[in-house]
Amino acid sequence: MPNIEIILGDITKQAVDAIVNAANCSLLGGGGVDGAIHRAAGPELLAECRTLHGCETGKAKITKGYRLPAKYVIHTPGPVWHGGGHGEEELLRSCYRSCLELASENGCRTVDFPSISTGVYRFPLEKASRIAVKAIAEYLADHPEIQRVRMVCFDERTKAFYDRALEALR
Ligand code: ADP
Repeated sequence: MPNIEIILGDITKQAVDAIVNAANCSLLGGGGVDGAIHRAAGPELLAECRTLHGCETGKAKITKGYRLPAKYVIHTPGPVWHGGGHGEEELLRSCYRSCLELASENGCRTVDFPSISTGVYRFPLEKASRIAVKAIAEYLADHPEIQRVRMVCFDERTKAFYDRALEALR
């Protein structure tokens, strides 16, 4: 899987075509990675987000990156984990796929994701990491226009789960 990479880092610092924001449905900012992205991008990002009128869980919307080194931000509300019987797995898969579709439509060749839903939204990390790398690999197999996708993990524990999930795909 040469075009999927797992790194440890801060997604707000990545100079790629698009970074993904683990947003909430309002798209008006929040805590965690969402707050960090809005702080780094500046108030123009929130101004553009206000024009989008929110986003459904599992779908995605794109904005410019403003003061970020990334050209675009793709905002996707991940599912809140409610035990697994509420379509959480399918919704998480749909987040990754919807973001990559928007990336393709907008000519992005490099895309960085945070670990969607595994923070405040409590999605179990092992399950989430397997869903993420599988959804990305399936998309890349049919979409050579995307050259590289990275999972940007904020801590070692998260990175270890994504490393294992990617290893299991090989
Ligand atoms: P969610 O609400 O989707 O669970 P969170 O922001 O709470 O989103 O957490 C998602 C993941 O993003 C967590 O693994 C968290 O540690 C991570 N994270 C937080 N800040 C950053 C950052 N600056 N860069 C990359 N990942 C981050």
